Amino acid sequence: MPVVDRQEWDVVVVGAGGAGLRAAIEARERGARTAVICKSLFGKAHTVMAEGGIAAAMANANEHDTWQTHFRDTLRGGKFLNQWRMAELHAQEAPQRVWELETWGALFDRTKDGRISQRNFGGHEYPRLAHVGDRTGLELIRTLQQRIVALQQQDHARTGDHESDLKIFQECTVTRVLKDGSRVSGVFAYDRETGRFFVLRAPAVVLATGGIGKSFKVTSNSWEYTGDGHALALLAGAPLLNMEFVQFHPTGMVWPPSVKGILVTESVRGDGGVLRNSEGRRFMFDYVPDVFKEKYAESEQEADGWYDDPEHHRRPPELLPRDEVARAINAEVKAGRGSPHGGVFLDVSTRMPAEVIRRRLPSMYHQFKELADVDITAEPMEVGPTCHYVMGGVAVDSDTAAARGVPGLYAAGEVAGGMHGSNRLGGNSLSDLLVFGRRAGWHAAEYAHSRTRERPRVDDDQIGAASAEALRPFALGAEGGVAGTTGAVGAGGAGGAGGGGPENPYTLHQELQQTMNDLVGIIRRAGEMEQALSRLAELRERAGRVGVEGHRQFNPGWHLALDLRNMLLVSECVARAARERTESRGGHTREDCPAMEREWRNVNLLCTLADSAVGRIRLTRETTPPVRPDLLGLFDKEELAKYLTDEELEGGLSE
Ligand code: FAD
Repeated sequence: MPVVDRQEWDVVVVGAGGAGLRAAIEARERGARTAVICKSLFGKAHTVMAEGGIAAAMANANEHDTWQTHFRDTLRGGKFLNQWRMAELHAQEAPQRVWELETWGALFDRTKDGRISQRNFGGHEYPRLAHVGDRTGLELIRTLQQRIVALQQQDHARTGDHESDLKIFQECTVTRVLKDGSRVSGVFAYDRETGRFFVLRAPAVVLATGGIGKSFKVTSNSWEYTGDGHALALLAGAPLLNMEFVQFHPTGMVWPPSVKGILVTESVRGDGGVLRNSEGRRFMFDYVPDVFKEKYAESEQEADGWYDDPEHHRRPPELLPRDEVARAINAEVKAGRGSPHGGVFLDVSTRMPAEVIRRRLPSMYHQFKELADVDITAEPMEVGPTCHYVMGGVAVDSDTAAARGVPGLYAAGEVAGGMHGSNRLGGNSLSDLLVFGRRAGWHAAEYAHSRTRERPRVDDDQIGAASAEALRPFALGAEGGVAGTTGAVGAGGAGGAGGGGPENPYTLHQELQQTMNDLVGIIRRAGEMEQALSRLAELRERAGRVGVEGHRQFNPGWHLALDLRNMLLVSECVARAARERTESRGGHTREDCPAMEREWRNVNLLCTLADSAVGRIRLTRETTPPVRPDLLGLFDKEELAKYLTDEELEGGLSE
């Protein structure tokens, strides 16, 4: 077994995005010695890319906004499959988390009378997104980092060491959660730069690793999104919840090919941008589903009136929840009414003065100018759906963020499931990170304190197995000599498919992305998902032979080879759950089962690990707990009847 450094902590937070940093701050403030470990540079988490804002019912831009309205919108957006207690806590606590950020130094855009400005977003009844232009995530991370530095300075004053109680391990990847019996005992990780292995021993581990988008070809997600936390939880014995729900954001760039999938923020529509097809028609009026009909405008005049006078007009249909807009764009393109490069047109140029566009959407202006040579103040953008967010994730307790079934394991942020049901509303992720990041840090610290006399033991056999697993691609690469493992795509490795020799991780990754995009993408069919599952089985078998050359110092081919295990696991979860759910709901659209079925409303699909010959993922169903009657009472009975079964309606409303 190679030499493995070991360190002792109370809480280890895996991930330094919004959820991870908020968890770490809370754990440290509650007296737990806390380590944060992230595979990117500190400060370059996915959260940095968040553009539009943080949803919180602060009622700054519309005095009628309340946590109850936010809760209602969130459940409507998630088509009532949300873990309702999470949605309740989220709506209640989000405003405090935003104000707290301000006290830590965040500089939000202001209203004329000096309050935090809030903007419109799809599915939110009132303007609710606190924002910093279209760079909100950057400010969020900057503020949380600043808070971490402040805490480290306090620690230095007390102990003489900035890192005594809160330490960041950047550019380090966790490959295994270690266990002592059924409980967590720490993590096994490697330093990406040196390739050295190390172990952080701790009774509590918080997973805050973000999403899974890199399993799909067209995605807004950055390179870190390989589903690591999802896979780590599965491998540690925790179930994943409702993995079939993957959000395809309606507006990604479609041209040029090198930037396909990069996000065009929803603020463009929130601020007045409209969608048109090749005939110049504002087609979203044709796609308002029955469940939303009462709330959305029927004419352009009514829709445009809403921006200035929302009290007396209904909302523009461009601001329907994302799943609806993405499906509508897909249908227009399929009907031959798309833009030249296979999207539709998103126009702000005829809707706002150029100077307002540059001020309110500075990143979008630069993104299109520099990447596509399009001036969005003068011409429309071409946009189409892009894989953006995963609603499915680690099954957690709503109040504590504890992962089900594995004492000491917690999950928060995009890696956790439940909060958003079948479809997330824009802006609800940044607030989710803050609300549940804090809760995860709090409960992980408490749990760690409760284990001070009985610290978990780290098992040498597990370390040995984790080391061997991580080194395996080198052994296979040395046997066969792998072509192009440090960058070339399509080389096929020495063996290629079916050749028996080592496989090239880049080739496998590309094939996986194509499979998920084509067969488990925005519109799904049973036969295609069957095909996807057999391709995934083949890819998994080939991934067992993935080989890399070179050494352990910064070797991207090796890193990808290790990430492949995770992407294959989560992709199988997505495909299996998507095949099982024979209805369309939120981010899961079945062409062969187009209706949203009330019988599926209260069904969760859970994925656990099983080493059977058929596949590695076992799928089980569970019934969701009934929504608390006082929360159901926030909705009209007529609206509830569109979602709930008669039994649920009677049970819920009669108490
Ligand atoms: P992240 O911020 O991604 O952090 C994950 C961390 O985990 C990183 O530090 C990563 O290095 C680390 N990590 C991953 N795997 C490992 C491993 N194996 N070992 C160690 N570390 C690991 N949401 C909104 O609410 N409002 C918006 O306006 C908005 N805009 C968006 C714009 C874009 C372009 C995109 C892509 C998303 C947007 N979202 C928005 C969604 C939101 O940004 C994400 O859902 C959210 O930032 C996820 O945060 P997180 O803390 O869960 O994960």
